[in-house]
Amino acid sequence: MGGGPAGMVVSLLLARAGVEVTVLEKHGDFLRDFRGDTVHPSTMELLDELGLGERFNRLPQSRLTRIAFPVVGGRLIVVGDLGRLKVRYPYIAMVPQWDLLDLLADAAREEPSFSLRMRCEVTGLIREDGRVRGVEYRTADGSTNAIHADLVIGCDGRWSITRQQADLRPREYSVSIDAWWFRLPRRPDDNPSALMPHAGPGRFAVVIPRPDFYQIAYIGRKGTDAQLRARGVEAFRRDIAELVPWLADRVGELASMDDVKHLDVRLNRLDPWHIDGLLCIGDAAHAMSPVGGVGINLAVQDAVAAATLLAEPLRQGTITQETLARVRSRRLLPTILVQELQHLMHEVVVEPIIQERRMGPPKPVLALLKLVPQVSYLPAYLIGVGFRPEHAPAFARRQPVR
Ligand SMILES: Cc1cc2nc3c(=O)[nH]c(=O)nc-3n(C[C@H](O)[C@H](O)[C@H](O)COP(=O)(O)OP(=O)(O)OC[C@H]3O[C@@H](n4cnc5c(N)ncnc54)[C@H](O)[C@@H]3O)c2cc1C
Repeated sequence: MGGGPAGMVVSLLLARAGVEVTVLEKHGDFLRDFRGDTVHPSTMELLDELGLGERFNRLPQSRLTRIAFPVVGGRLIVVGDLGRLKVRYPYIAMVPQWDLLDLLADAAREEPSFSLRMRCEVTGLIREDGRVRGVEYRTADGSTNAIHADLVIGCDGRWSITRQQADLRPREYSVSIDAWWFRLPRRPDDNPSALMPHAGPGRFAVVIPRPDFYQIAYIGRKGTDAQLRARGVEAFRRDIAELVPWLADRVGELASMDDVKHLDVRLNRLDPWHIDGLLCIGDAAHAMSPVGGVGINLAVQDAVAAATLLAEPLRQGTITQETLARVRSRRLLPTILVQELQHLMHEVVVEPIIQERRMGPPKPVLALLKLVPQVSYLPAYLIGVGFRPEHAPAFARRQPVR
């Protein structure tokens, strides 16, 4: 259920193992703006193993090698230097998520046991004898259908209906920020190579370069969406121009506050991730904060782990609750560690800015990074590679398609 990064990767891998897979996706295409766009070194290495690396490299993309903070005097302190990583792809690729999903869907369609049904919105779980046996879904013409399956994998994101219907409730971390996304034009003479937050009192912005425009996240206090909209687009434009002065010449491109999309930032985790016949992975099992841009990559890692552990039992028809629990066991520690790190980043970097106590990372951290720039390897590794990178199982590996 759900054709996001988790759903497309797990179904591609299972289809390559010869398992019959059907993906139900409620939208008619993958063209949704303002979703995760950061593809990290570990995910690119995985795409290579799947034989999709060359296709991926041909997608329009910007490449970021550094995560930096501006400090007094207009200088930059690099907090994460991906160029230091000893990996095949020492950078973050900024790729529109729909391009990545199209690529995965095309690869999956090459497998005879794969099928993707768009405009199919799952509305409920089918239960028989206390076990999930499939789902009910609504098609574009409003009719209701059902599909039976040995296993339902809930990849339906952070507002997952599967987990809600299964009565699986996530534990929420407290989060004090929300994000507002919008885009502004990119000019040919702009040349950003670092992902750089621009902080001002009580708010900050992160400018993400795409090949022909900027995707911008404005981060402010949680629960202030109505207030922000009531102030109007002119005040919002002024805010952005103050935060990122080099964008002042183009903030007029924001026609109204309708161009600014609100994201209710959540950080949460299920425990457990399954009931009999149903497993949740990706954001459905653990919504991530946008800090570090790790959401896609973690969802992909869950999907690889799930396919690796479930392909054989699915082929043999021997899926049990213990098998499903193994997926969580394998992914729990990396998930907890990343969420704890995000929580720490919220407390140490994000909240002091939002509460107007400080404009960036603590001074001792900046001093250390200035004195020993090699320290920037660690954040780069944690973001780019992570705690337990998953690799493609043998059954899913392919030679590159040239
Ligand atoms: C605005 C925004 C910006 C983000 N920025 C970043 C970033 O820069 N980098 C990063 O790594 N992460 C980012 N994230 C997080 C990242 O997008 C997610 O962590 C990641 O996409 C999770 O993948 P997923 O497959 O688990 O879920 P999703 O990507 O949410 O996919 C869920 C899919 O399920 C479908 N679906 C939902 N309900 C149903 C239903 N009832 N029936 C059928 N289909 C359904 C949805 O249409 C969707 O396609 C961002 C998220 C948002 C919202």
